[in-house]
Amino acid sequence: MISFEKALNIIVKHAKKLYSIKMPVEKSAGYISAEDIYSKIVMPPFNKSAVDGYAVIAADNKRVPLRMKSLGLIQAGENFRSKIKYGECIKIMTGAVLPKGADSVVMVEDADVHGEDVEIKTSVKKWQNVCFKGEDIQRGTKVLKKNSVIPISSVALLATVGRSFVKVIKKPKVAVLNTGGEIVPPGEKLTKGRIYNSNGPQILSLLKSDGIDPCFLGIAKDESIELERAIKKGLPNDIFLISGGVSMGDYDLVPDILKRLGVKEIFHKVNIKPGRPLFFGTKAKTLVFGIPGNPVSNFLAYHVFIRPVIYKMSGYKYHGPVFGEGLLDKEFCQKKGRKHFVLAKVSEKDGIWHVNPIIGHGSADVLALSWANGFMVVDKDISYLNAKSRVEFIIW
Ligand code: AMP
Ligand code: MG
Repeated sequence: MISFEKALNIIVKHAKKLYSIKMPVEKSAGYISAEDIYSKIVMPPFNKSAVDGYAVIAADNKRVPLRMKSLGLIQAGENFRSKIKYGECIKIMTGAVLPKGADSVVMVEDADVHGEDVEIKTSVKKWQNVCFKGEDIQRGTKVLKKNSVIPISSVALLATVGRSFVKVIKKPKVAVLNTGGEIVPPGEKLTKGRIYNSNGPQILSLLKSDGIDPCFLGIAKDESIELERAIKKGLPNDIFLISGGVSMGDYDLVPDILKRLGVKEIFHKVNIKPGRPLFFGTKAKTLVFGIPGNPVSNFLAYHVFIRPVIYKMSGYKYHGPVFGEGLLDKEFCQKKGRKHFVLAKVSEKDGIWHVNPIIGHGSADVLALSWANGFMVVDKDISYLNAKSRVEFIIW
């Protein structure tokens, strides 16, 4: 049986960065950019008013109060062609082009209207309340770096410089299949011997949290024809995740069916707890994961094996789970032999991480999973750890 480290290494080696595609700018956050983007425009594209007020010539209103002739109103988006002269002003809205001749804007609050005239009550300095053409972005300013994650905070910038599409690295297409004769969708009636499908909603949510729009193939019973039909549907994807049916039971049919359908087994079983019977195989470019059915095994497999693959295919530089180091809150015993991922509450105090393992009932313990925010990671050769021992953890 291979080690955790070896399994992760093999899996990540099989994942290849996908090609680039054009993505609508509003969907581009979280993708890796496949191009450098330089602005072709300046921002603002013209001198504009920063406030709602009256465009004036500053030299005109040194002594206030002062009555001026109003020429009307400039709305944002309008192009006012005349020139402001001494003794004149024009009402202007925030974001509108500063008219020729004017060099400042008196705020509406600082003026009173008297018929056609406006009384300016507070004087302004030259260029007061004016945003200058190009003060934010110059032509040629780099607004996106190739091979970097597009942060949500850059979407406005990309749109501002006029991009409706961005070249990004495609994210993998992922299909999800849950198997098991006992599994029924939440919301349906539970009959004796049945349980609700928790892996489905869980894996679909995890995928969505990584920006993947998964294809859900539903639940297949542990029966050859039904499984084969469902598995055939999942194989033409970049990643195919199957839960259940990969262990040693009489009805764990998934690995044999996968092989019959041309999936090459790369390994079956990893020396970890929970989730030992993990199956990993490939068919052409599809990476196939058979994950043991317990929800905690699924959760763990996603964090340590599947997400790294998604990241690598999506062009991210990081390809592995990040391990932190903290102090164990209480002593911990385990049976040696497998690398153990223990559900834990991980918290930080004064710069030190504290790891508090949750002792549940095993890999089906979804309640313990809901309390946890990480896994404590204990090496296979360790059977006992003192309180305050240094331990590794993964946090989500
Ligand atoms: P298996 O890997 O098929 O042997 O399943 C291992 C355990 O996980 C069994 O107790 C199953 O009932 C349970 N299980 C399998 N699939 C699911 C699922 N989709 N949701 C919740 N529990 C599951
Ligand atoms: Mg099963």
